[in-house]
Amino acid sequence: AEMFGQLTSGLESAWNKLKGEEVLTKENIAEPMRDIRRALLEADVSLPVVRRFVQSVGDQAVGVGLIRGVKPDQQLVKIVRDELVKLMGGEVSELVFAKSGPTVILLAGLQGVGKTTICAKLANYLKKQGKSCMLVAGDVYRPAAIDQLVILGEQVGVSVYTEGTDVKPSEIARKGLEEAKKKNIDVVIVDTAGRLQIDKAMMDELKDVKRVLNPTEVLLVVDAMTGQEAGVFYVNLELCDESIIKEIGKPIALVTTFNLEIGITGAILTKLDGDSRGGAALSVKEISGKPIKLVGRGERMEDLEPFYPDRMAGRILG
Ligand code: GDP
Repeated sequence: AEMFGQLTSGLESAWNKLKGEEVLTKENIAEPMRDIRRALLEADVSLPVVRRFVQSVGDQAVGVGLIRGVKPDQQLVKIVRDELVKLMGGEVSELVFAKSGPTVILLAGLQGVGKTTICAKLANYLKKQGKSCMLVAGDVYRPAAIDQLVILGEQVGVSVYTEGTDVKPSEIARKGLEEAKKKNIDVVIVDTAGRLQIDKAMMDELKDVKRVLNPTEVLLVVDAMTGQEAGVFYVNLELCDESIIKEIGKPIALVTTFNLEIGITGAILTKLDGDSRGGAALSVKEISGKPIKLVGRGERMEDLEPFYPDRMAGRILG
């Protein structure tokens, strides 16, 4: 299924109900606004986001008539479009680079979200921009993750710093950074261990690694397929209350928790090529306060691009 397919048709049915109306009123938009609300919720958009969104769109719509030949139903499309762009952060959030010395990008995320793949994709992406990159293998709990990083590094022509699994991640990070400085590398991308759920040990380890690296970017890799009904229980209750998770949705609870615990600079959304309903793309910024900077949409090394709120809104509106 197309990611926003259902959302697109749900929104369309809202405008269709307003065809032929000369002005939008509280009364005639009531039913279309319910359609919009339903479509967003079915796309897994976070509940508080949906509430605020619908309120704001409704407020702007009431009283709108024909403007410069554009009919009221089309005006509503424009209001929703602008509001969607705003919701996703407005502008593209570019990666930030250090003014001097290597730029350090620390990647975090749960197991299986596509973090190792993103390390190599990101190196490939930055290499194409003329930057020299080095990968640091900090996932010491899964030897297979280190092997995979080495293989992917070779594939994109980027060196991978490894210390095996017997050295502490913060120590690997320190040594890797030293090595990168020696080699005059522009960007160091540090992979960290993912677990099946957030726990205190994971957070403490990440904090250690972050302290050692003083990274320019701390990016949380989030799987777009993490829906509200995801089977794995993703967030440890010590760190985030269950009722809050229910209310805001798991992907966003994840971003928020990581942000509160270690302080992140943004998120990378992966697996946008899958049959995710897309809600995470719409809610992450508003709830967590942190932008989605990049999106992965496939298993090939080329499948990484900046997150463009306006293009995403365009896709949603079909
Ligand atoms: P990690 O455990 O977070 O390091 O995850 P991996 O990088 O090992 O990826 C887990 C699985 O997801 C692998 O089979 C990847 O090929 C796959 N994967 C990663 N990114 C994407 C993506 O953007 N789209 C799709 N369809 N699959 C992906």
